[in-house]
Amino acid sequence: MLNEIQKEIFSKKHEKLHLSLLIEVLEGIVEFKSLNEEFQLEILEITNACYRAKHELINDRVYDGFQEIFKESNELGEYHPYLTNVESEDVLEGKTVELPQRMLSTQKAYTFKSINKWLDNVIKTGNMVDISELDIEIRITPKLDGYAGYDDGSTLYTRGNGVRGRDISFAFERGLQVAKSAQRGLGAGEIVISKDYFESNLSKYFENSRNIQASIIAEKNIDKRVQKAMNEGAAVFYPFSKLENWEGKISDLRSDFDAITQNILASCDYDVDGVVLECKNQKIKEKMGATRKHHRWQIALKSNDEKAQVEVLEVIPQTSRNGKLTPVVRINPTKLSGAEISRVTAHHYGMVRDKKIGKGAILEIVRSGLVIPKIEKVIESANADIPDVCPCCNEDLKWVDDSLYCLNTSACKDQIEKSIIHFFDTLGNNDGFGTATISNLNKHGVSTIYDVYLLENNSIKLSELGYKEKTVKNLQDALTRSRTVEIEDWRFLAAFGLNRLGLGVAENLLEHHSIESIFDLDTKELVKIDGFAKKTAIQLVKGLSSIKDVFQKIYSLHFNLTVTPKKSDQLDSNSPIAGKIVVFTGAMTQGARGDMEKQAKLLGAKVGKSVSGKTDFLITGEKVGENKLNAARDKGVKVLSEEEYLSLIND
Ligand SMILES: [Zn+2]
Repeated sequence: MLNEIQKEIFSKKHEKLHLSLLIEVLEGIVEFKSLNEEFQLEILEITNACYRAKHELINDRVYDGFQEIFKESNELGEYHPYLTNVESEDVLEGKTVELPQRMLSTQKAYTFKSINKWLDNVIKTGNMVDISELDIEIRITPKLDGYAGYDDGSTLYTRGNGVRGRDISFAFERGLQVAKSAQRGLGAGEIVISKDYFESNLSKYFENSRNIQASIIAEKNIDKRVQKAMNEGAAVFYPFSKLENWEGKISDLRSDFDAITQNILASCDYDVDGVVLECKNQKIKEKMGATRKHHRWQIALKSNDEKAQVEVLEVIPQTSRNGKLTPVVRINPTKLSGAEISRVTAHHYGMVRDKKIGKGAILEIVRSGLVIPKIEKVIESANADIPDVCPCCNEDLKWVDDSLYCLNTSACKDQIEKSIIHFFDTLGNNDGFGTATISNLNKHGVSTIYDVYLLENNSIKLSELGYKEKTVKNLQDALTRSRTVEIEDWRFLAAFGLNRLGLGVAENLLEHHSIESIFDLDTKELVKIDGFAKKTAIQLVKGLSSIKDVFQKIYSLHFNLTVTPKKSDQLDSNSPIAGKIVVFTGAMTQGARGDMEKQAKLLGAKVGKSVSGKTDFLITGEKVGENKLNAARDKGVKVLSEEEYLSLIND
């Protein structure tokens, strides 16, 4: 009894509700009143979305009746977010355009058993196309819980119903950036906002990150705080191809599934609601194909949120490597999504102070499947539990913005040891120096990374520290290896653990400047780099100058660094098409179109798939209709024949 669009909306919105139950409610077989809060809410959301898409399921009177019942039966009464929220614009509303490529949804699974069945299927299909299990590659990525879109290089579309979506290119014009400073045109992805940024800057003003995404793609004026989040690169369009991922064999995946998915989820600073698994072998993908709704070679393991109310036992401060204190909230042990939770982390001490978290406070915590639980809200406050001195070194603490810091950098044991461990962890090529070793070394006065490397040629000191001859040799070999094994210069730089200089930022920085020259950069030069906001730049200049001496000392130990290729070498910015948006159409006579597109990109152009008002050049091959050319000219696009184009770029 539901039409296609209503079914589409149902499949996109429903979580636990079955279609049959919805139909029974609509037909009056099951009373709305008899449902639990969760099902009631889902039905309200689905019927409302259908109404907004102009395919209503129930009339206004019935809807109002449902809403009244929900108001009575839900715990928060009329203050329930569904009843108070200003509605975000719905996907299906407004004028739609055809997507350049169909966007199918992802098949969903909720248990590892279903994943195992899917893997069996992949293996079976592999057998059919002569690919043995050992040659099958699986890729796992986090399943972003943002706002789905498709970027063809000139237009950004909403996913819509998978065939038609809205043109929301204005989001890019407003300053939305592509994640990881990647170029436009990488296809499907999601608009997401950094969780960290949301918690520290926006959670006071917005109920959840959905409201931010809605603001970014709303036609009306954008909220100034959301604008700022875009400017600072915290709200981005994240193409799926750029996501952190795990790749490997099915047997490895099966034996270590939990750890692998945990790692993937932990790598992601955006809202996620599970992981996506896909088979990478082209032949298997083709053989498995797709249903009308989803690809068979891809599946998502979704996690459901679980919430609990818990009592706070105490708040324990922990000093991190940069001196910032993390409030670890110890709670009455509680089962959540199958695991016993006895502690949650508050974002910073500003939160503990403002929300009055301390012994006896009642919190609502939420765990999305495999993700680390977080504090959703404070239900009952208490006396805020705030320390005066560093739990590690007893130094007086200082407030910086919303956080408490121990500024005793050179003598605070936690800071020293955690920084050294971070260095070796980030290099990832030195197994010998784990927590126990570093801690022992620090106890005996070896308290900097440089000091640790001096041990490479000081067996006497190592034996004095109580290490046997064989261990001494192992430790020294480990140090030599970590210096001589080839390692990317950006990884080396990130190992210094500077605030805001993680792996991604370090790589981006070294794509523009050599590692020797970064200490001479000022804020002005840094903000010229795509993806560097002013605030980041200011902090980086400060941070870099603070580690300059330490860095030079360690750098002089001759690590085997590979130099990051410079962006400026990759493209010829003098080319007349550099920075322009170019679209190719029709059959080319001088070479394959794919090759010409590649060449254009090397010259610094962006290659679009279809003509829009922002296209600069339309390059036409053979057999292109006059109508198409005129339409392009009407939009102010310069139309060039293949010969004209070639003489332009070869001049
Ligand atoms: Zn301290």
